[in-house]
Amino acid sequence: MTTIATTNPATGEVEKTFDALTDEEVDRRVARAADAFASYRTVPLERRAEWMNAAADVLDREADQIGAMLTTEMGKTHKAAVAEARKCAKACRYYAEHAAEFLADRRPADPADVNARDAYVRYQPLGPVLAVMPWNFPLWQVIRFAAPGLMAGNVGLLKHSSNVPQTALFLEDLFRRAGFPEGAFQTLLIGSAKVERVLRDPRVKAATLTGSEPAGRSVAAIAGDEIKPTVLELGGSDPFVVMPSADLGAAARTAAESRCLNNGQSCISAKRFIVDTGCADEFERLFVERMRAKRVGDPMDEATDVGPLVSEQGRAEVEELVADAVGKGASVLCGGERPDGPGWYYPPTVVSGVTPEMRMYHEEVFAPVASLLRVRGVSEAVEVANATGFGLGSNAWTRDDGERERFVNELDAGQVFVNGMTTSYPELPFGGVKRSGYGRELSADGMRAFCNAKTVWVG
Ligand code: NAP
Repeated sequence: MTTIATTNPATGEVEKTFDALTDEEVDRRVARAADAFASYRTVPLERRAEWMNAAADVLDREADQIGAMLTTEMGKTHKAAVAEARKCAKACRYYAEHAAEFLADRRPADPADVNARDAYVRYQPLGPVLAVMPWNFPLWQVIRFAAPGLMAGNVGLLKHSSNVPQTALFLEDLFRRAGFPEGAFQTLLIGSAKVERVLRDPRVKAATLTGSEPAGRSVAAIAGDEIKPTVLELGGSDPFVVMPSADLGAAARTAAESRCLNNGQSCISAKRFIVDTGCADEFERLFVERMRAKRVGDPMDEATDVGPLVSEQGRAEVEELVADAVGKGASVLCGGERPDGPGWYYPPTVVSGVTPEMRMYHEEVFAPVASLLRVRGVSEAVEVANATGFGLGSNAWTRDDGERERFVNELDAGQVFVNGMTTSYPELPFGGVKRSGYGRELSADGMRAFCNAKTVWVG
């Protein structure tokens, strides 16, 4: 049985454990969600927007305490956790402001062309949506679904990672305090084995999952069997391509920032650094310097850049991947040794000479560990960048317009960021291709993902 508990990654101490809901309690919550949906869907958008803005106010006002809770549960630095709370507030405000525009009736055709007096698309909510979410951005991943979802008139059922129960309960409380009706957003404290039961419940109309490939495959298979729509945001092993025309200083700084973001545990961190031989020596020198300079330590300390990994198992997996690469001929240019003492720390690490025989070449490395690969020219860079099952984000660094166009057209990814760090914005769609998942979150696309785009024809 899954343990639902807060275990502080900086100390390894279990701070608080929680009882999972019984099946009867889960059923009551699903029933409450269905009841809430029946009336919530009729609440005017302006009222929903007031509540969503109130949620944003709470997130801004309490960012400091919320940040401490996130840091305690999953180890990200306090400053990063506070920034996450503020980013969530911004997303809530964004959807409060733009929902009317995104949900407005759309007239794609001249009514005369379809023999109608009027013809349009109306976006309507689907009902209770199950959100299965990961621990790495425990607030943001949920808000990214909940802000557009609730504004569209859906209601939410959150099954959060078992290691972030306090954040999960806070999120339910957040929406209640903001004024949303009882049942509009509920947390289900359950282990992953109970997801199938909820997903098969006919009152649950759709699911969104952010997490690993196995979890995505399982949820998509069950939802497919039930003919329920899903959005999947899965893993990534983003390429970061550097060409000789790039600003190498900016590229190296961004590379280190991206790889160490969230203590190295972000789906859209750059993970594979694919560098043209024309600038490889210089880029590697600058990059290693930046990685070495990162301060590893207590995540509550504002001077810390990199806190601990989320779990003992997470660290053991990374150690195995690095050992596998070294055993097959790779070199560690910095890091690579766990420090003594409590907590699941692992230092910023750069591994060079990574080849296809090594697991790191193909698998997602969820730690501040960078793979360096050398290539000659754009074609080989694209080939190596695409030689992965994943297709979430990608980075290209070049000041050559022709090269930029090739990267934009040829990188197999849900997003390509040129001369900047891959990140998510409420204004832009976010999602992957290949085994990184399907569907989009954020922007109007994310909101409409859980809407019935109803065609209306009036004769
Ligand atoms: P995970 O183990 O897949 O867990 C994610 C969620 O799925 C948790 O709530 C987990 O519950 C649940 N879960 C696990 N196995 C399940 C199953 N078989 N059926 C139903 N639910 C299941 O992933 P994680 O370790 O928390 O997160 C890291 C992964 O998420 C990485 O691969 C990362 O790249 C990816 N990620 C992707 C994005 C994106 O936007 N594309 C963003 C962030 C993270 P329990 O905790 O109870 O097991």
